Order: sequence, then C-alpha cells, then structure tokens
Amino acid sequence: MDSIRQERIFQFDALVQCAAKVAVVGHTHPDGDALGAATAMALTLLSRGKKEVACVFSDTPGENIRFILSPEVRCYFHDREAEKSESFLRGADLVILLDCNAFDRTEALQPLLEASPARKVLIDHHLNPDTARFDVVFSTPEVSSASELLYWILRALDWEVTLPAGTALLSGMTTDTNNFANSVFPSTFRMASELMAAGIDRDALLQKIYNGYRENRVRLMGYMQYEGLRILPGGCAYMLLTREIQQRFDLREGEAEGLVNVPLTIGDVRLSLLLKEDRGHFRVSIRSKKGTSAQALAQRFFHGGGHENASGGKLFIGTDIASAEDAAAYVENALKSFLK
Ligand code: 5GP
Ligand code: MN
Repeated sequence: MDSIRQERIFQFDALVQCAAKVAVVGHTHPDGDALGAATAMALTLLSRGKKEVACVFSDTPGENIRFILSPEVRCYFHDREAEKSESFLRGADLVILLDCNAFDRTEALQPLLEASPARKVLIDHHLNPDTARFDVVFSTPEVSSASELLYWILRALDWEVTLPAGTALLSGMTTDTNNFANSVFPSTFRMASELMAAGIDRDALLQKIYNGYRENRVRLMGYMQYEGLRILPGGCAYMLLTREIQQRFDLREGEAEGLVNVPLTIGDVRLSLLLKEDRGHFRVSIRSKKGTSAQALAQRFFHGGGHENASGGKLFIGTDIASAEDAAAYVENALKSFLK
C-alpha cells in the first residue's frame, strides 16, 4: 500500500516510543469506523505498555455501535464530559487522528487540537487530507476504511493485532463498507480473511451490527420510504428527516443509519440525499452511484466532503436557508444546478 512507506512507519514507531500521554481522536458523530479504528489503536498502545492512553470524541456515539468500544479503553465524549476531554487533550504529547482528513471534522475539539503542541499523526482514507498540520501522515482513499488502513499499518510495524483490537478493526471495516457492499479492495478481503483465521467471530459481529436495532427504526425506515421519499427527474432522490418525524418515531443517534442507501437500489436513481434536522442545521448524507460525485455535491452546496460516492455536510438554517421549511426548495435548486 503506497501510503505505508517504510520511513513513515519508522517515524510513527519513534513518535509512539517517545510519547507519554496519547490522545486517540476520531471525527464528530463517530461512526463504526471511527470507533473501531480508535479503539484498536488505543488497545494496541495499551498492550505495548503505554499507560496514559484515551480516546476522545466530540459526541457520544449511537447505542447500536457503542459495543465497538472496549471496557479496557478510557473514552471521553466532549458532549458529556467537556472538562475531562479538554484536560486530557491539553496534557497529551501525541495525538493520533483517525478517520477524518482535518481537525475541523472534530468540531468541538478543533480549537484544542490546533492549539496543542503535541506531535500529530493522521491515519485516514478521505480525499483532501490536511497534511501540513501533521508530523506523520498515512492517507489513501484506496482502502475501505480507516480501520483497514490501521490494520495494515500495524502489520507493517510488526505489532501484534490482538483479538480485541482485531474485532474492533473488523467492526469498523464492516460498517464502513456496509458489509462489503462499497469501497472494497483486494486488501479488504485479505484483512478480513486474516482476522477470521485468527479466530474473530464475524457472525457474532454481524448480529451486533445489523440485528440489534429497536423496532422504531424499522418503522421509521418504512415510513420514510413510503411517505418521505422524493424522486426528481435526472435520478436524484432525497428525504427530509424533520424534527417532527424524529420525535414521532423517538429517533436516537445512529438509528437512521443506512436509510440514505435505500433509494440507490432503484435502477434510475444515481444520487440520494438524506437531510436530518439538528439544532440550527440539517446534517446531510449523500450517496451516489459510480459516475456521479457525492463529494462534489457535498463540497459545492453543503460545506462538506468525504468520499467520491459517500459524502456528507451541513445545511445551515439562518444562513443557507431562512427556515427549516426552505430545505426542500434548497435541495431541489442545488440538484438542478449540480446536474446542469
Ligand atoms: P455519513 O453520511 O455517513 O454521515 O457520512 C458519509 C461520509 O461523508 C463520511 O465519510 C464522512 O466522513 C463524510 N462527512 C459527513 N459529514 C461531513 C461533513 O460535515 N464534512 C465533511 N467534510 N465530511 C463529512
Ligand atoms: Mn471511515
């Protein structure tokens, strides 16, 4: 793998050896890949004798993916424990940022990370990494997930991938590829194969990831597909998950995961957007088929980015649109102009 050059491996190894207090950080609203990669990184550092290690995230993850975290790893969520997460970050002499391409993707943690004198390492698979801010960068979009990239880095370092760390990595890769449906490379199957051969129970993992939801999620998915789906000429689909709908279905963080992919199962649909209303903005998820760039749409109209066919961003109420009711018109105009 091109990103894993030997000199970077030596540099990363040296930074870890010198570090006394390591903060392992992932992106805002962490998904399975951010949790899996960060947990595996922290577990590996602990098993290599580092005493002061913690994961820090800006927000508490959804219940359905919290199982990826390990009881062995200290974890601070800034939305719950701002003081503790800030104090840990201030004292860290090494920061390892995973599954995001820049500090702004950590939102509330951004000012602390930018001001931190710690040495910094980036391990990521998104487009446009902010390489100038890091001492060592492992970044390539030619890999399924940050979890997979970390697996190959650990292998290149010749550090043991313990069963708990491997389980976290397999979880992260599985969620990011939507169980081998997207962004899969030959190396992804090799990683999965090696981890299964090492004894990781993939069936148990799949049960936890895909068959542990609450009933309300299935009902919401049905409602949104029946009542909420709008399909525009040109093959663009979008859904608005308003606050009112979220309250009606008692929706919690992470429970709309996967909904944005559903419209792409329609032959004529090449672009799918899900807008989830939050405080002062909509969180926007975008998925596309090959040949249409979700990333370009996210960047041009939603202050975001991500991967070519899976991106995200935001639509701000008060600046981009006057009120939440204007979201549909904004999306329809954006799509018209994007497809011109
Ligand atoms: P999701 O739709 O699952 O939230 O995100 C899909 C992809 O888009 C992920 O790779 C994620 O990192 C990226 N993404 C989501 N939200 C944002 C955002 O606000 N800004 C940027 N730059 N990327 C985002
Ligand atoms: Mn990822």
